[in-house]
Amino acid sequence: MPLTLPGLARAEEESSSEAVARQQAAVRAGLATARRWGLERLPAQAPQRPVVRPELKPAQGVKLAPGRPPVVYRVPTDEKIVFLTVDDGAEKDPEFSRMAAELGVPFSAFVADYLAREDYGYFRRLAAQGDMVNNHTINHRDMRLLGYEQQRDEICRQQDQLERQIGVRPRLFRPPYGEYTDDTLRAAASCGIEAVPLWNEEAFPDRMEYRYDDQRLHPGDIILTHFRGTSLWNGTMTDLLRKVVNEVGAQGFTFARLDDYL
Ligand SMILES: [Zn+2]
Repeated sequence: MPLTLPGLARAEEESSSEAVARQQAAVRAGLATARRWGLERLPAQAPQRPVVRPELKPAQGVKLAPGRPPVVYRVPTDEKIVFLTVDDGAEKDPEFSRMAAELGVPFSAFVADYLAREDYGYFRRLAAQGDMVNNHTINHRDMRLLGYEQQRDEICRQQDQLERQIGVRPRLFRPPYGEYTDDTLRAAASCGIEAVPLWNEEAFPDRMEYRYDDQRLHPGDIILTHFRGTSLWNGTMTDLLRKVVNEVGAQGFTFARLDDYL
C-alpha cells in the first residue's frame, strides 16, 4: 500500500533519527578507538585521493632531470596533507600496523631486504591493509660508494625480491641515508622506478626533527621514520605513531598516501 504523506514524513523522520543515532555511535566508536591508543581523538580523514597522480613540475622540494626519476622532498600541493614513510624493516611490530589501520593513518614502507627477509609476512600484511611496500635496496649500502653496476644490483634485485614476496613491483625507491648520485637515479630508472621520495621531517617516539628553520610542517611534506624497537630508540613504534599523529593534528594537517601522489 502506498504511504500517505504523513506516513512518509514519519518514515523520513525515523530514518533521519536512525542516521543521527548511527552517526553518534560511529563517533563514540571512533573516540573509543582513539583512547585505546592513547589519543584524544581520531586523526582527521585524508582528502579524497587524486584520480590521476599530479604531474610533477619544477618546484621547491622537487628535482627533475631528463631520463631520471624525480627526487622529491615535498609533494607540490596546496592541501594541508603530509605523507608518513617508514624505513628499513628491523622491527616488525604488529601493534604498530594495527594502530595505523585502526586510526586510518596510511603510510609507505621502504624496505631493505637484509632486514625484511626473515619475515616478509609482516610486510605482506601491511600491503594487504593498504600500506605500500617500496624499495630501499638489498643491503642498505651507501650508494655513493658503489659503481653503477653494483647500485643497479642493489636496487633491481630488491625490485624483483619485493615483486616476488609482496606481489607488487614497487614504483618508489628511497636510497639508504638519502644519499645518491646520478648513477643511482639512472640505475633506479633502468629497473622501473618512477620516483625517489626523500623527506623534510624525521619522526622519533619523543620528537620531530625539521629540515627548515621554521620548524613546522608544510603542505606535501614527506615525514621519515623507521621500523625500530626500544633497543634503538626511546619508545615503542606505537609511541612513535602517537607522537606523529599528535604533532600532525596539532598543526592542522592530515595524512595522505604517498603512492597516490607520486
Ligand atoms: Zn634506511
